[in-house]
Amino acid sequence: MNGPDTLPFPPGRPGFVANPIDRAAHLRTQPDQLAALERHPESRVYVVHRDSVLLKHGAGAPRARVTLDEARAAGASEPPFFLGLERGAAVFGMGLNMAAAEGIAGRHDLTLENLRALAMTGGIAENELSRVAMAKSLAGWHQRHGFCANCGKPTLVVHAGWRRDCPSCKAEHFPRTDPVVIMMVTMEDRCLLGRQAHFAPMMWSCLAGFVEAAETIEDAVRREIFEEAHIVCTDVRYFMSQPWPYSSSLMVGCTARALTSDIIVDTTELEDARWFDKTEVAAMLRGDHPQGIVAPQPIAIAHHLLLSWVAGAV
Ligand SMILES: [Zn+2]
Repeated sequence: MNGPDTLPFPPGRPGFVANPIDRAAHLRTQPDQLAALERHPESRVYVVHRDSVLLKHGAGAPRARVTLDEARAAGASEPPFFLGLERGAAVFGMGLNMAAAEGIAGRHDLTLENLRALAMTGGIAENELSRVAMAKSLAGWHQRHGFCANCGKPTLVVHAGWRRDCPSCKAEHFPRTDPVVIMMVTMEDRCLLGRQAHFAPMMWSCLAGFVEAAETIEDAVRREIFEEAHIVCTDVRYFMSQPWPYSSSLMVGCTARALTSDIIVDTTELEDARWFDKTEVAAMLRGDHPQGIVAPQPIAIAHHLLLSWVAGAV
């Protein structure tokens, strides 16, 4: 029988949080050492195209971790960006442009697989998922930031993929991470959940929203809950965070206590919102809710917020 540690995404460990890579940031400014690492036979690379990862098929299980020669043969875009070190070996990420992605369509030795679908079906190991997420966030940023946001001229990759510089106006651009608050709002033995129109059928989840400019996490939680459900809340506490590489968000999981209970749903943001009691949430997590309502999958931090609340831990 499987124990909690052998399950994918056990309690308290959603997807993308188990990253074994030592970022070794000091090497990003050492071109000679990086060039040597690129040539090293033990170096490996993750190749990503939009929401998909390149898998190499052959003897044994399909693998996302390929050699730099294999990545280049597949048409991956230069230069590789340095993700870090793992047991002394270098790990890189590379993007694959549309033409190269079309070039491998129909091949049997290489396929592009949707990362989230792979994660949901257990087609990729939990720690492998984190490495791919890192490559995906960086590749996506490079793809969208070829031109300077300050002057519009082309930018150049520097610092092994962790910065883009504009030779024209000298601006330095860094990969962005967008904080998103996601919150478990409770009132005694009830919690506030909502449904967005694009959610999977019957799935309800914690409310969430982007942190805005010059805003604290606590204020963002209170603002989002009031905007989306007209509920006033207090006692905002940090729970845990989760990188979410769509495209490069950081989910900041929080709990908060509601001071009011009359919901007015902002239907531009949510399809619906209502209070759920613990019995109902426990049934959603087990998958035996009488109306077929389900909780988010264990890959998502919301699942772990709900689990902790049902268990009385938050
Ligand atoms: Zn510029």
